[in-house]
Amino acid sequence: MQNRKKYSMKRLSVPSKSASSRKEEKDIEADAWDVADGLLAGAIQYWLFSRQPCGDPRCEDCEPVSTAHGRMLALQQLVRDFAEESEYFHSPTDSNVGRA
Ligand SMILES: [Zn+2]
Repeated sequence: MQNRKKYSMKRLSVPSKSASSRKEEKDIEADAWDVADGLLAGAIQYWLFSRQPCGDPRCEDCEPVSTAHGRMLALQQLVRDFAEESEYFHSPTDSNVGRA
């Protein structure tokens, strides 16, 4: 998030750009997306690793995550909650801003 913000500031502070600096900015933006996707993939991997049920079929702690489907539901709920809590969930540059 820090980096994304920095790139946005840079984009706003450069009034006229050569073709090469525009390409450079697009590359930086694409890199940030790749980094973010990689972090997300790693986070999901670790989350799934941490939620492996203990093996006791009567364990109440593990019950909600005792199946792949249950883990997916729990993960999706967390993703929704974290996204909606984020200050970046809505953006002033969203395509639907001001059309409501
Ligand atoms: Zn358990």
